[in-house]
Amino acid sequence: MRIAFLGLGHMGLPMARNLASAGHEVVVFDVVPAALDAGREAGLPAAASGAEAAASADVVITMFPEGRHVLAAYRGSEDSAGLLQSARPGTLFVDCSTIAVDDARAAHALAEAAGHRSLDAPVSGGVVGAENATLAFMVGGDEADLEEARPLLERMGRRIVHCGGPGLGQAAKVCNNMILGVSQIVVAEAFVLGERLGLSHEALFEVAANASGQCWALTTNCPVPGPVPTSPANNDYRPGFAGALMAKDLGLAAHAIARTGVDAQMGLLAQALYAQFAEGPGAGQDFSGIIHTIRSGEAA
Ligand code: NAD
Repeated sequence: MRIAFLGLGHMGLPMARNLASAGHEVVVFDVVPAALDAGREAGLPAAASGAEAAASADVVITMFPEGRHVLAAYRGSEDSAGLLQSARPGTLFVDCSTIAVDDARAAHALAEAAGHRSLDAPVSGGVVGAENATLAFMVGGDEADLEEARPLLERMGRRIVHCGGPGLGQAAKVCNNMILGVSQIVVAEAFVLGERLGLSHEALFEVAANASGQCWALTTNCPVPGPVPTSPANNDYRPGFAGALMAKDLGLAAHAIARTGVDAQMGLLAQALYAQFAEGPGAGQDFSGIIHTIRSGEAA
């Protein structure tokens, strides 16, 4: 299978590398010359444009920052040919970027109208998961198309879940990250409340980690140093999962909440708190660093 892999950022470069090292024929492209150079240095053949890479591919994988990048690349512009227009009929497009459900559905519709097939396949697992090929893929689209893409996804990840039709991979991602964002805040609030009440971090952890307060935000990403030695709190809150990315993902959740009219007050509050956190140094810290905001705040 010939693969065009477009978008060689933090995630895309190691993902493309894993595909190539599994013996797939991979051609790469990135609009930023330094990212393209990094691809070349990793031994990946580079195309002159995304359209050129797509023209000879069986599968086109994109790993871009936002939905507007995906839609613009699919459509093309006056200066650059669109991926959909350049690809051979029936090409399978797999977008692994995290984007709004509506944008994912628009991308599917554009691909279908151009005579192609497409999947939304956002990931979780971060840069470490991308490097170690242990990502989780949440996939929306046709099951037969997923079966075609599965051998490729298995080279980049460990867990692949078919979530339903177009856009439902993104829906699963946004719902999961809303749970994560809200739970990380409340775990941090509990530690700060415990501090003010004279409760040690160790005692609270020992109780909650073995009781009904147990969750990933506590037992893996514990927001205070000590109880979980591998959590980012022990490493000056270096990510991990950066505050800017959590703010972005909760922005996508807020968009979906507004569109559906769900009364998701916790999700919206978490979105506002992370947006504020990511305006400052929190953008580059692990999102569990939100505990600093809670500690410095004064309840009215
Ligand atoms: P990044 O900004 O490091 O990389 C994105 C790359 O896409 C950039 O190099 C950019 O130049 C390139 N690009 C943009 N438009 C392009 C185009 N038309 N053609 C070719 N290249 C183009 O971002 P990242 O951290 O790799 O994340 C990528 C996506 O994965 C995002 O949607 C992000 O939310 C999601 N994600 C990231 C993480 C993480 O830990 N970094 C984890 C899970 C999901």
